[in-house]
Parts: sequence; structure tokens; C-alpha cells
Amino acid sequence: MQLVDQFLRKINYLRVSVTDRCDLRCVYCMKEKMNFLPKSDVLSLEEIERLCDNFIDLGVEKIRLTGGEPLVRKNIIHLIKNLNKKKSLTNLKEITLTTNGTLLKKYAKELKDNGINRINVSLDTIVKEKFKEITRFGNLDNVFEGIDEALNNNIKVKINTVVFKNFNEYQMTNLINWANSKLLDLTFIEVMPMSDTDMPRHMQFVSLDKIYKELNGIYKFNQSDYQTGGPSNYYTSDKLNIKIGFITPMSNNFCATCNRVRISSTGKLYMCLGQNDFVDFREILRSDRGDDFIKEKIRFALSVKPKRHDFIINSETKPYINRHMNETGG
Ligand code: SAM
Ligand code: SF4
Repeated sequence: MQLVDQFLRKINYLRVSVTDRCDLRCVYCMKEKMNFLPKSDVLSLEEIERLCDNFIDLGVEKIRLTGGEPLVRKNIIHLIKNLNKKKSLTNLKEITLTTNGTLLKKYAKELKDNGINRINVSLDTIVKEKFKEITRFGNLDNVFEGIDEALNNNIKVKINTVVFKNFNEYQMTNLINWANSKLLDLTFIEVMPMSDTDMPRHMQFVSLDKIYKELNGIYKFNQSDYQTGGPSNYYTSDKLNIKIGFITPMSNNFCATCNRVRISSTGKLYMCLGQNDFVDFREILRSDRGDDFIKEKIRFALSVKPKRHDFIINSETKPYINRHMNETGG
């Protein structure tokens, strides 16, 4: 079984936001004062699993759990355990996680025991005070300890770094050298104009074209054909033992090869991170409708998956996306 959208893109990758809540407040992701959703609005773990089952039946091979912070969701390991069992019974090949790393020390072993072999950890700086600044109150030591615990449990860790204007754009070599010393691949990401945070988006955004040029001057990159199923372009360097990736939704559109859709914590299926259209599954899951109806709705959603996002960042344009990143996950 294969899911194909209206532009014949094969969709085999599902990202699921398991909660809108988080133990950090990164300045590009959330406002300082956020109103989180009432628990009853958020899908139960059973509802999430049923939705995943239907996607797997239709051809999804990879599921990434995200949020909010997925590890703050109560009983998240229970969901991972159940999904992991499906790997031997269905087409599901991989379950991964995007996490801020603060709770990894506690959960790394259980993640590994339940089939998580690869995770992305979001980390924008290795300077303690600056980490506190970008996350508004986070403790960098928790993340470092979490990463070490994941590595001790043989989980492959990739670092994701949002490049934020006047914050970390001039300190990338520190981060690269640190990642290189721990043999962690590192991917840079451009700020995307999701719903407003406390600072206009044009004051946050740095084009990765500029960062690439600066870093290429130092590391003399070679293009790599390495792929992880995501939108990153990877480079190697004779001076490094790791790969450096660039995710450039703003400066270099990659929608033609999009292979994924996203479910929000409330059960809305977003066919594109950069558009507002969704198909709502929560009421369907809470009705007496069967799985055939759910599958029909999934096929319908794919038939209207947009061609591309229309992200714009400039001082005149307000973001048209009406949700923060924690609703649909990165
Ligand atoms: N809490 C987890 C974490 O931080 O990894 C998972 C959810 S977080 C929303 C997923 C990713 O989205 C993180 O790598 C984060 O840096 C990124 N992100 C959040 N807001 C963003 C924005 N406006 N533009 C680009 N990336 C963003
Ligand atoms: Fe939380 Fe991740 Fe958003 Fe930071 S980026 S506030 S860690 S959800």
C-alpha cells in the first residue's frame, strides 16, 4: 500500500505532536506567556495509536514523535512500546523522536529498550547563559547529561540548531567543534514564520545561504548524498568527522520532495507545515465511525496536500500561519 498525494509525491513519513506542552519556552517557538490546551482537547494515547495504525495500514513507514516536548507527555513510553511492537507486524520501519533533551537522562534507557535507535536533539548554543536566554529558563547541563545518557545507551543523536539573528549566528564554529568532538551530526535550520512570538520574525531570521558561505570558507564543504528521509542537505569536510546539514525552508524551497504530513496534539492533520489547512480527526476518533472512514479521510487529505508553503519573512508581512510550532511539532 502506498499513499500518494495529488502531485504524486509518495507520503511515507508521519510526524505526531503528542502534546502542546513543554518545559522550555524557546523564544522563536513560543511566547513567554502561553495558554496551553485543556487536556480534553488533546488526543489520548489510544487515539494517537489508532490514528497511527491507520496511517501505517496506508503505507507510512516512519513515525517521528514531537511536540511540544514529547518526553513531558505522561506515559509516552507506553505509546512508544505499542508502536514499536508494530515494526515486526507491519510496514513500520522506524520510530524516532525530536526532543529538547532535558528529560533524556531519565528516559534514554527506556527509549532504547523500546526500539528508539535515533533521535534529534534541539540545541542552539553550548554556552550556559545563552541557553538560558534562548529557552527563557532552561538548564544546559540537563541537556548535556541527557545527550550523554542517550549515547551511553547506543542511541544515535543528531543535533538540530535554529540559527537566530544576533544570538548564535557568529558562534557556529563553537557548536560544530563541540558536536565534532562527540561525533554528532549537526543540522542548521532557518527560523520559520509560524504564529507570532514576542519579537517580529524579520528580527529573528538569518538566511542559511549566509551561514553556509561563512562556514564553507572555514571547513571547505563537500556535498554528501547522505539522506535521512528529511529535508536536510548534508555536507562533509576533511576537517570534520561529522556531517553538517542545512534545512532551508526560506532561502531554498524543498517542497517538491516532501514525503510527510503532521498530526497536531489535538488530532488535526496538517498536510503542510507552512499552510493553515487541516483535516480534523479528533471528532471522528471520538465518534462511532470505523477505520474505513478514517482511511477515506486520510486519502482525501492527501488529495488536497498543497504544492508548497508560501513562507515570507520581511518587516511588512505578518506571519499567515496561525499556530505556533509546538502545535504541530518541527
Ligand atoms: N520540544 C522538542 C524540541 O525542541 O526538539 C520538539 C518540538 S520543537 C517545536 C521541534 C523543532 O522545531 C525544534 O528543533 C525547534 O528548534 C524547531 N522550531 C520551533 N519553532 C521554530 C520556528 N519558528 N522556526 C524554525 N524552527 C522552529
Ligand atoms: Fe519547547 Fe521545543 Fe518549542 Fe523549545 S522548540 S519551546 S523545546 S517545543
